[in-house]
Amino acid sequence: MTTFNFSLLTGDTGPLVKGGRPDRLSIPVQDHTPMLTSGDQVLAGTLIATADREGEGDLHAPLAGTIREITPYLMSMDVDSEDRATPQPSPPDGGAVLKEWLRKQGMDVRHLGRAATLIVNAVPPEPGISIYDPLLRDYRKTLELGLDTIQRIVEPSKMYLVAAKGNRANAFANCTVMHVAPTHPNGLDPMVIKAVTGQETLPGQHPENAVLVSVKDLYLTGRIVETGRPMTETIMTIGGQNHLIPVGTPVGFLAAEAGVTIQPGDRVVMGGLMRGLPARDLAQGVEKDTTGLVILRAGEGLEPTDNFCLGCGECERRCPARIMPGMISRCAEFKQFERAEDYHIHSCIECGICSYWCKAGRPLLQYIRLAKYELALLAGAGDATPEDQTEEKDAQ
Ligand code: SF4
Ligand code: SF4
Repeated sequence: MTTFNFSLLTGDTGPLVKGGRPDRLSIPVQDHTPMLTSGDQVLAGTLIATADREGEGDLHAPLAGTIREITPYLMSMDVDSEDRATPQPSPPDGGAVLKEWLRKQGMDVRHLGRAATLIVNAVPPEPGISIYDPLLRDYRKTLELGLDTIQRIVEPSKMYLVAAKGNRANAFANCTVMHVAPTHPNGLDPMVIKAVTGQETLPGQHPENAVLVSVKDLYLTGRIVETGRPMTETIMTIGGQNHLIPVGTPVGFLAAEAGVTIQPGDRVVMGGLMRGLPARDLAQGVEKDTTGLVILRAGEGLEPTDNFCLGCGECERRCPARIMPGMISRCAEFKQFERAEDYHIHSCIECGICSYWCKAGRPLLQYIRLAKYELALLAGAGDATPEDQTEEKDAQ
């Protein structure tokens, strides 16, 4: 069996590297309404699509260029050789007006609101993803600006910075530092919320009287205020270094920049090895919440199978949500999606640990994501993303 390190210790990862300039961007636009048509020319920062869901951030052009094609899922654009930016208005003072201003600048603000406790999550989201390290070391002023902006919405009386024990964690003013064990899945939001408040929340649910933001949220908020430009970038760990990458940059471009040639049978994973999603093809663009890029050579990593469940219970013993991944996977396998709710599928925090330990090599996390997607469709949510149901496949 492939051995894997569950440690969240990141060490010193070096400075944040600015990504290169691709010829073309492929910007994911699902859950958004495009504002442009093919052939339109845009400046960096031009509004290109408005969010369909309340609280979700609008989308802006990361670079100047010309819109090439628009489909229900993506907008591709040819990038100009030099950048020209559109000016943005200054931020308002605070409260709901500031929250809406941040949303219009591209931030997801669904979780922001007045609360007594503000939690800053500095624990890596999964092993191999070290995006917070360079931000905490080199971008102190930007983080403080972001924290000040978010405080003007939340108005907390207590603040916590939660870090993995052994990783960098310099406190902000009036902020208590709290350490958790440096082991996956302690960086996932529900685990951090539980560590601070004792409350158990479902993924995507807000804790009572508390708001959680990540160090990346602080950085991107501070950057919006500092530069006067909307949020059009993400931070990704690639090959152990951390990069500031324009949203929509194709994964093939990033692999080439890293000096990696993709071979037939390789797998390109967006995110980390425990929770990442496979790229559909090398033209797929990164999203605002993409945290990493990993290339698995043919034969490397776990090979998912369609083996039947042995009923050994190993996945249940390892599951931090105390549910039954094996039973849920069987419900998904036999299209009994509603039955998966009897096994508390919505308590799954998508850590990927059950897939790693499954004795039969079943792709448990993928089964669970498929079932959640189908349940969202059944509930008429219409906001399930097709990526959630994608099983790993060769990226070539
Ligand atoms: S991914 Fe698996 S181990 Fe993790 S919470 Fe969900 S069911 Fe449990
Ligand atoms: S670890 Fe795999 S084989 Fe064992 S009960 Fe869970 S799903 Fe079934």
